[in-house]
Amino acid sequence: MNDKDFNGQGVVEQLRTFPRCLLAHVPTPLEVMERLSAHFAGVSLFVKRDDCTGLGFGGNKVRQLEYYLGHAVKERADTILITGAVQSNFVRVAAAAARRMGMECHIQLEERVQQVDTLYRSSGNVLLNRILGATLHSYPVGEDEAGADAKLGQIAEQLRQDGSVPYIIPLGPEHDPLGALAYIDAAHELLVQLDQQSLPLDHLVVTSGSGATHAGLLFGLRALGSRIGITGVCSRRNALSQRQRIAGHLEKLSAMLNKDPGIEPDDIRLTDVSLAPGYGRLNDGVIEALRLTARCEGLFLDPVYTAKTMAGLFHLVRQQEISGKILFWHTGGQPALFGYGEGLLD
Ligand SMILES: *Cc1c(COP(=O)(O)O)cnc(C)c1O
Repeated sequence: MNDKDFNGQGVVEQLRTFPRCLLAHVPTPLEVMERLSAHFAGVSLFVKRDDCTGLGFGGNKVRQLEYYLGHAVKERADTILITGAVQSNFVRVAAAAARRMGMECHIQLEERVQQVDTLYRSSGNVLLNRILGATLHSYPVGEDEAGADAKLGQIAEQLRQDGSVPYIIPLGPEHDPLGALAYIDAAHELLVQLDQQSLPLDHLVVTSGSGATHAGLLFGLRALGSRIGITGVCSRRNALSQRQRIAGHLEKLSAMLNKDPGIEPDDIRLTDVSLAPGYGRLNDGVIEALRLTARCEGLFLDPVYTAKTMAGLFHLVRQQEISGKILFWHTGGQPALFGYGEGLLD
């Protein structure tokens, strides 16, 4: 991996000082999307296949969990706790990672999406959580991060009283974004691949949800001396509030790594063009992106994150806001397709 010295290689060395469990199949493939590119004038589209990270149906959370589970093992935890949406990919992969490390897993599912059907509650990631034997709890509200965290804290307290050693995967913006560290490493992985394939990339498009992936990639690229443009496509909140999240993560990463990568305010690029009608809800552009990508490339996107992101990419290309060689960072999530079923049919 380290056959070429990028500027600021030191940041990659510094990542090694954080405890980590190796869980992901990396490097993930970097592929060209020829048929999808042909749909648009003047662009070449590529895809970074982080849907292929291996563990528990893969996705971006496998990389992120390497750092959380590393921390949990260091604290001698025996039980992982995590909260998320009913069809959360993070909780599914957390449960798989817990099992891989010989731990129990408690999952709290929040009601973030309205007007759902029975498949949403029984299939997709929910089914996989059950197969993994995770203990499921439910939280009746969707937009109450503090309340959901407090409830998770109570579950942890009960487990402690019962003699377990729980580890909460903390995802609120006030916590250090440990998962973002994995995407600094992934930025390095990408730069090595681009170098090996002699591919001068112009722009990268990635989902911006909690923002760990987006912030980690942006931090990593700039810390390693790359000026490749990066746009985050909002899946959870509008561009204005997401900008605050990303800026907050970047500040925390600077403190955690004691490094200022020189990120300008203009480097934080976001679009929320495909977000409506809200988190986890489909719209026509999202369904178009999901179908077109499958029918051109045989590549499945997920309804909550990556199809929204591809719809955002289509928009930016059509508006000629981005051009040239463009990379779509596939963050996984395909099991949620089975929780959305009916809404995806012609
Ligand atoms: C969680 C998730 C994202 C968002 O990643 P963040 O690091 O939270 O911004 C994107 N795609 C998929 C499939 C996810 O599960």
